[in-house]
Amino acid sequence: MNKITFLDKYELISSTDDFKGVFDKTLEKECKFCGKKVSDGVTFNNIPHVLPQLLGKNNYTSNEECDDCNKMFGSFETDLANYISPYQTLIGQKTKNKVPNFQSRKQERQKSTTIVYKNGNPNINFNSNLCDFQYDYKNSLLNIKLRKKKFIPINVFKSLVKIGLSLCPKAELQDFKKTIKWLSKDDSKENIVYDIPLYLFRTRFSKKNRKIHLLFCIKEKLKILDIDMTLNYV
Ligand SMILES: [Zn+2]
Repeated sequence: MNKITFLDKYELISSTDDFKGVFDKTLEKECKFCGKKVSDGVTFNNIPHVLPQLLGKNNYTSNEECDDCNKMFGSFETDLANYISPYQTLIGQKTKNKVPNFQSRKQERQKSTTIVYKNGNPNINFNSNLCDFQYDYKNSLLNIKLRKKKFIPINVFKSLVKIGLSLCPKAELQDFKKTIKWLSKDDSKENIVYDIPLYLFRTRFSKKNRKIHLLFCIKEKLKILDIDMTLNYV
């Protein structure tokens, strides 16, 4: 029986390796998102990062993102930062320069619970917020409530989608015109929550892999021949 592998079904179309230090301010540019050039009135002075530096310092840059689009995408990253910040502190994941300190949301005249990453360990100070933690003696587990700063979930999602589109070669973006339009649409007003689980980053930033920045963009191949549909992920 022929088994197909992951790469029989999907093909690699780009990776962060293709963007290593490519920003060149002397090039004549066209924005891959809005399609505008300098002659259309946009500028290309900022250095856009394919992978936001809040996920770690990196040099994966682009020549295909105008300053207007860069500014708009940057606004989503504030929500992404608020969403992931306690996890970054807990595992010691640096943003551009350092591991961020975490301060929980607080009521008036109340002190925050803080987490500071020091000497390879997160140091947690609950102050008077004793309800923020419970110790499960039976299973030796410490359960901590992380009261994150306010964030807009749809913007967190948008910032992740934008990373995918940034990695995507220009020719492929023909199929994502609606997605690009949706990115610039303000559909976030009534959609604010505080705490939702973070499975993605818990997986991505395991202790073993947290310094690796490599991302891949893959797409499904158009046709597969007769096959046993068991996929062996590689
Ligand atoms: Zn643009």
